This record gives sequence, C-alpha cells and structure tokens, in this order.
Amino acid sequence: MEKLNDLPERLARCEKENEELKFRVEELSDFLENAAVPLHWVDGNGMIIWANQAELDTLGFTMEEYIGTHISAFHADQETIQEILNRLTNNETLHNFPAKLRRKDGSIRHVLISSNVLRKDGKFMHTRCFTRDVTPMIQEAERKSDLLNELKESEARLKMAIRSTNLGTWDWNPVSGELYWSDECKQIYGLPPDQPVTFEVFSDCIHPEDREHVQQAIQKSIARGSDGNYDIIYRILRFSDGLTRWIKVQGMVSFDDEGEAKRFTGTVLDITDRKEAEEKSAWLAAIINSTDDAIVSKTLESIITSWNASAERTFGYTAEEMIGQSILKLIPADRQDEEPRILSRLRKGERVEHFETRRVRKDGSLLDVSLTISPVKDELGNIIGLSKIARDITEKKQEEQRKHDFVAMVSHELKTPLTSIISYLQVLMARSIKEGNEFTASALARTETQAKKMKTMIQDFLNLARLEEGKILIYKEAFELHPLMKEVAEDAQFQTAKHKIVLQDCDEIIVNADKDKIGHVLMNLLSNAIKYSPEGGNITIGCVVMEGKVKIYVTDEGVGIGQADQKRLFERFYRVNSDKLKSISGFGIGLFLVSEILRYHNSKIEVESKEGAGSTFYFYLDL
Ligand code: ADP
Repeated sequence: MEKLNDLPERLARCEKENEELKFRVEELSDFLENAAVPLHWVDGNGMIIWANQAELDTLGFTMEEYIGTHISAFHADQETIQEILNRLTNNETLHNFPAKLRRKDGSIRHVLISSNVLRKDGKFMHTRCFTRDVTPMIQEAERKSDLLNELKESEARLKMAIRSTNLGTWDWNPVSGELYWSDECKQIYGLPPDQPVTFEVFSDCIHPEDREHVQQAIQKSIARGSDGNYDIIYRILRFSDGLTRWIKVQGMVSFDDEGEAKRFTGTVLDITDRKEAEEKSAWLAAIINSTDDAIVSKTLESIITSWNASAERTFGYTAEEMIGQSILKLIPADRQDEEPRILSRLRKGERVEHFETRRVRKDGSLLDVSLTISPVKDELGNIIGLSKIARDITEKKQEEQRKHDFVAMVSHELKTPLTSIISYLQVLMARSIKEGNEFTASALARTETQAKKMKTMIQDFLNLARLEEGKILIYKEAFELHPLMKEVAEDAQFQTAKHKIVLQDCDEIIVNADKDKIGHVLMNLLSNAIKYSPEGGNITIGCVVMEGKVKIYVTDEGVGIGQADQKRLFERFYRVNSDKLKSISGFGIGLFLVSEILRYHNSKIEVESKEGAGSTFYFYLDL
C-alpha cells in the first residue's frame, strides 16, 4: 500500500528526469550539430547517415548531397577509404589516420580521420568519424620541402660553377684572425690541400711590389663606414714553384651592429692567361696600328670586322664608317668578280699573296694595291674569317709605267736605225761576195748575225711593252705546221755550228693559230735551247697529235733547270741565278712573252727538265 501511495510522486520524479534527459540529448545534439570539428556517421554499408555543418563546410556539399551517399565518393584515394572501412569493420579504433578528401569544387583536402564503431548489444550501429583538416599544414610543409630542394639544387649548381671556373673561395674573420681557403683557392696559390693557411702565409705569397697596395685595399674594405666591397687584381708568387701569377680577388665584408667588420668572404680567380692574352693583343694592336699597310679583317661573307689606322689613311674611310660594311664598297665596278674568285681560293685554305689590283678610295679616285689575304682559323682549324693586308703601290706602279714607256720609246728609236744597218750590211755582203773578198764577206756575215740578235732583243722589248698596254693582237688562221717548223729550224741552224737541229714528224698537220706569233714562240724556244746548251748536242723540234690537239715540243741536251726555278721560269724578268749561267746574256722576258702568246691561244707553256740533263719545253695547239 505504502508503495502505491508514493507512485504519483515517483511518476512525477520520473517525468522530471525524462524531461532533463530529453533536454540534455537536445543540447548534445545541438552541440554536435554546431561543433567546429567536422563529424559524420556512417552505417554498416558505408553510407553516410549524419554529418554536422563543419563537415559540410569543409567539403562544400549540401546536406541533401551528402547524406545517403557512399563515403568512398568523397575520398580521392580509394585504397585509403577501403582500408579505413576494413579496419573499422574489424573493430579497430582509428586515431589521426591520414586521408585525402575531394571537395565539391574538385580541390583536395588533406585530413586526419579519428573514428570508432558504435555497437549496441554487440550489434554494429554506425561509425563515428572526426575529421581534422590539415591541408594548410601539409601545404606549408610541401612549400618548405620544395624550397629546401631548390636551395639544395642551387647550392649544387653554385658548387659546380665554382669548380668548373676554377674559382677559389675564402673566408676571413678579422676579429679572431681565422682564415679559410677552399681547395681551389689553395691550388691557385700553389699550396697543398692539407696545409693550414694563416694571414702570414697569405701575405708572404703576395708579390712584394703589390703587397702594400693589397694591404691598403683590405684595410679600406674592413674600415668602419666602408661599403664592404673588395675588388682587386694583383700578382702572387706561387708557393709551389715561385712563378708569378695574376689573380683577381673579389669580396664582401659584413659588419656587426657596432659597425665592426666581423666577416670578410670572397672569391679568387687566376687570370694570368687572360692577362697575357690581353698584353699580347695590345702589342698586336699597337703593331697593326703603326704599320703603313692597310690591315682589314672580314667575315667569309665579306663583311668588314676590323679596320686599322692605315686603312683609314689609304682608303679615306674611318673605322666607324667601314666596320659592318661589305668590302665590295672598295672594289671598282669592273673588278667586282674578283672577290668571289679570291673567296673560293681562301675557302680551300689557300693564301693569296701579292695580288696586284685596283681599289677605290672614298673620294672615288683609284689606287693600285698589292693584296695578301689569308684565312683566319679557329682552334679546330675551321675558317672563321679572313685577314687582308693592302699595300698602296700606286707610286711603284707609276714608276714602273715610266720605265716601260722609256724602254718602249728607246726600243722603238733603236729599231729603225738597226733595220737600215742590217739592210746596208746585206748590200755590202752581196758586193764583197761578188768581188771575191772572202774575209770581208765573212766578217759582214758575223756582224749581220749580231745585229739580228740585237734586233730580236729590241723586238722582245717592244712586244713586252705592247703586251702590257694590252695592244697585242692575235690573228688566227689555219696553216700547215710543217713549213713553219722547217723555216724556224733552218733559221736556228744558221745561228749555231755546235748543235744539230732535228725536225720530227710534223707533216700534214694544220693548226688554227696566229702564224707569226707561233713562229716567234718556236724561235724563242730554239734560241734558248742553243743558248743553254753551251756544250752543243742535238736539239729536237717536233709534233705529236693526241686527243684532237697537237703537242709541239723543243728538247735540248743542255744545262737543265732545277725544280724551284721551273715554277718561276715564265715570270717577267725571271732568270735562273747560277754561276754556270752568269756568262749567258739575256733579260728574262723571252719565256714570259712565250707564255703570254700561248695564253692568248688558250694554251700554256710547260717544261720537263732536270739539272744537267737537258730540258723539254712543250705546248698544245688546236688542230
Ligand atoms: P733569258 O734567256 O733572256 O734569260 P728567258 O725568259 O728566255 O730569258 O728564260 C728565262 C730563264 O730560263 C733563263 O734565264 C734560263 O735560266 C732559263 N732557261 C730558258 N730556256 C732554257 C733551256 N732550254 N735550258 C735551260 N734553262 C733555260
């Protein structure tokens, strides 16, 4: 009864407790709903059954989009969520398990998940998950690690650069006097790597003449109020071998708050090679600028790259006006084809020496120049440009012209009286033969031979003068070779009793050439054969037909010609210089005329000879 009596009271108490419980549940639910930590619950199938606002904010989804979706849809790494679910199913509690969630906008959030399973009466109810967003921390760590890697890389690059440039580094503490030198630095000073360095060792290595200057520079850099910069070039006496080396040292001082120098660091570089090269090129530049020859360098495309003082004087253009311009500016219009011809020879690596030509000055006047052009090569032998030395030979040319004019005039004046002397000699000779005066006849015959020799020489000079003035004319005609050869051979035989002139195989050959001039060529070759065979012997003049041409040759058994002389034989005024030939007179123009006449016939005189074993001169003519 007593128990029933207090029933209403107990009921009322129960109701009150119930009210309180309900209130607490509501408060707890409100607390979870609005907690700052993201929270969610997942059922036994992995479906999200509840999430708070912080969770939704973290991932950017609405409640409708989130609830009822499988948890794996929000994970960026499927293996991780599988592992999380497996572990929870196996009743494990997860604490700060790292995972990656994908936000609605596609961006990734790094989170730490703490989770466990709520069971009731041993039955799986749902999991409770706390998510901690650690994205800013991860990003910061990644940034730091990138920065660190970058730092490591640039340090490695710097080290490599220092090593590859042979740059030494040093570090000096002016307060404690401690001095550090890198291995490269020690190498520059010629110190073994294990040798300790002190300021005294350093000071001893400085060249005595530079020591004071270096010490002053150091004092200036570390003095209070200095900007701390140090940049100096001086000589050292290398410790290992005592050799003088030039070094460039750069440095920077750091000061403490009181303005005292606390650290002095920098680099050192051996610049001896550069210094020597600079000195050498300064010397060369001085030589180039003091010479009277115009020295110009240009590219393979004929663009001028340097222009010395004499080039300014010779051509009238300043260096500023010409550098970067084409060399064609200096070449007269009628000689523009010279440049490509010269270039093609130079590209083959050949030098062009003493090439006489004409160039135009800035004022339009022409000057005679002698050019020597050489290819400029790099260390690997590739042609990278051309150097050109131009010597003004206008005066020399004018002098030569005056001489030629004089010789031509004298020869012309001598020829007329000589012709009449020869005519009178012939008249006198005929008369003395008729009168039976043998001595007079033979004396007159010898006089005539000498006078004719003189006439030939004078004729040669006149021909040379004509040739140089460009007045030589070629009249080609078809003629039979044999009669001409016979006539010349007989004339030559008249000149000598010591030699036998033999004529070989020239029948029925018809050539197309200037008969008089070819006669002159043959006579010249035969006269030389006689002249340069003082011991006598056979002289053969002959022809051979080959490949649509006829080869004409003159062979003697005389003194012969050495290899070196053979190359220059056909130059104007060239004579072989030997004791044996001193007594043989001549001017060195015969073979020059021969080669010029043949050049006008598109042919060329050639020689085969050996000293002491005779010579053969030959050339080809068109049939
Ligand atoms: P010159 O005979 O007037 O000196 P050339 O021009 O005819 O001039 O010849 C040039 C040089 O060539 C001569 O000085 C001579 O040394 C050489 N020479 C020419 N012909 C012969 C030859 N047949 N044998 C040897 N040397 C020769």
